[in-house]
Amino acid sequence: RAQVAREALDRLVVDVPDFPEPGVVFKDITPLLADHDGLTAVVQALADAGRDADGATVVDKVVGMEARGFILGAPVALALGAGFVPVRKAGKLPREAHAVSYALEYGEATLELHRDAIAPGERVLLVDDVLATGGTVKAAGELVAACGGTPVAVAVLMELGFLDGRAVVGDLPVHSLAVI
Ligand code: AMP
Repeated sequence: RAQVAREALDRLVVDVPDFPEPGVVFKDITPLLADHDGLTAVVQALADAGRDADGATVVDKVVGMEARGFILGAPVALALGAGFVPVRKAGKLPREAHAVSYALEYGEATLELHRDAIAPGERVLLVDDVLATGGTVKAAGELVAACGGTPVAVAVLMELGFLDGRAVVGDLPVHSLAVI
């Protein structure tokens, strides 16, 4: 299953040099999303991060980070029989939310999560497309913890290994379909 997903990534993710700024190679997943077989393969492989060795689901919620984590996280939640919860950029959620700010290369970003989105004790799988510096995943994990939930794993399509985001994420197991 991981092998089929890996092949879909190799075939359907497009590298865009110098986007959104010089020196960054942007991983464009829109051709992958547009391909039914490719999308199916990666959603199934991401969902395996929320299962134990016997194939049983071990999470109550899937948290997806704005914006591509929404697209991937919702079908992963359905595949696992879990609920989906969005982590949003500041000012988008309509009700009381926890907020965590973190440093970007230039400036700062804030992510938010509805306070009642995760019940105390719930187990959570974090889903996004790319793990880069790890700041986004770390902030999302802190938001889940602020609700009293437990992040149990991270699932991403691609991990930019040279940025060593894993070190920032800490003890949380990171499941990457491809390390680049
Ligand atoms: P970071 O917080 O540095 O791990 O960045 C992760 C977030 O930025 C994810 O939500 C990604 O969607 C996005 N991102 C970072 N680098 C890239 C890249 N090279 N291509 C596409 N998305 C990226």
